[in-house]
This record gives sequence, C-alpha cells and structure tokens, in this order.
Amino acid sequence: MNITELEQLNESYMDKSPQEVIKCGIQNIGKDKLVLASSLSIEDQVITHMLLEIEPNARIFFIDTGRHYQETYNVMNSSMERYRFKYEVYSPSNEKLEDMICKHGPNLFYESIALRKKCCTIRKVEPLQRVLSTSNGWICGLRRGQSQDRERIELFEWDAQNKIFKINPLAHWSEEQTWDYMRRENLPYNSLHLKGYPSIGCQPCTRAVEEGEDIRSGRWWWENSEHKECGLHRS
Ligand code: SF4
Repeated sequence: MNITELEQLNESYMDKSPQEVIKCGIQNIGKDKLVLASSLSIEDQVITHMLLEIEPNARIFFIDTGRHYQETYNVMNSSMERYRFKYEVYSPSNEKLEDMICKHGPNLFYESIALRKKCCTIRKVEPLQRVLSTSNGWICGLRRGQSQDRERIELFEWDAQNKIFKINPLAHWSEEQTWDYMRRENLPYNSLHLKGYPSIGCQPCTRAVEEGEDIRSGRWWWENSEHKECGLHRS
C-alpha cells in the first residue's frame, strides 16, 4: 500500500465488506504493524469481532484516560472474557497528569476550550502517539454518518498528522447496520447506550442526548460544535 494508490483502493473497495477492507489492511501493512483503536463503542466492538475472526493475534488497544465510566470498563472486561485476549492499554504520563491537576484542578475541562484540549492531549493524544509510533497503520471505527466532520472519511486514508495509514472499515455503514451486526453476533455493549448515550467518552465530558439530536451532541456539550473532536481524529 502506498499513498498514491489510496484513491484507487477506495474505488475498488467501495462495495466490498468491512472484513475485506480489514484483510486488505493486514495483507498490506502486516498484523504486527496494524493496530485497532478501541474505545469500546459499538463500531469498535463490531470491528473487534471481525478482526479477531480474521486474525486471532491482532493488536487492539484501549486508551485508559482514567476518567471513563465504570460501564465502559465492564464492556472491556466482557470482551476480554469472550475473546480470551488482552488489550494493549495506554495511560497518560503520571508526571504530566499530576502537574495538570495541581495547576488547574480536576475539572479544568469546563473552564476553557484550551484547558479542555490540554486535558485531551495529556489523557488521550499523547498515549495515542505512543501506540501509533509502534505501527504503520491504524484501524478506526469512524462512520460518515457520525458527524459533519466525518462525512467525507474514506475506507483507506493517509493520516498526515501521525504519518501512518488509517483504515475506516465501517466508513459507509449506518448506525442501523452497526446495531444489526451487534445483535446478530450478540456482542457486548455499553449499557449506557440504552439510557440515551449514543456516543460515550470520558464521564465528565459525556451526557445523554434527546431523541433525534446529533449523536455526538452529548460530547463536550458546553462547547460550540466546531470544537467537538478531542484531537485523536482530525478532519
Ligand atoms: S474527554 Fe474530557 S476528561 Fe477525557 S481527556 Fe478529554 S477533556 Fe479530559
């Protein structure tokens, strides 16, 4: 796989299944240099299931920000039991965390966008950069229908920020297709989805949404919509 082939790859895989997209990623990048980013969302649970069926020794990582819901850890645990595998877990630097909380307090994210981004950088982006530095490609559960920012994502992309390939096997799937697969395979999911939480991140920065509201509107709800990414995915 090289950058100049991406457009052609996206065209030829347009009508192929997510499993075929994943297989193409493994063939081109290699199982040891390709990592799946899992936040335990329904999309990540679907891809985890597909990926482990294709490659039982696949690398799947979780960023433990330290502020997740207990329900999220429960999904992680259920998945480990179901597949008998271990996640690669990445945590923020203790030193930076201590310094940030000493200077700005535990709830700094509500004070300003700059402080919220600082928290996301220390708790999410820096651990992500550590895992991505061991990889040549990452698989993500992004879907075009998730938000305006994501409506132009492709199956295969070059992630210029991290300088590796990025594969979005569910780019063209709807939320309904994702749930259909979850139910058909009886996959573990976060019980908060049944309480109005379509998109679940850290506990202090996530809330339930009303029926019909944008699925990411419960994330950083106090900010304007143009700021609603944590730095893991840039459009
Ligand atoms: S989502 Fe909230 S708590 Fe989690 S890293 Fe970002 S600002 Fe911090």
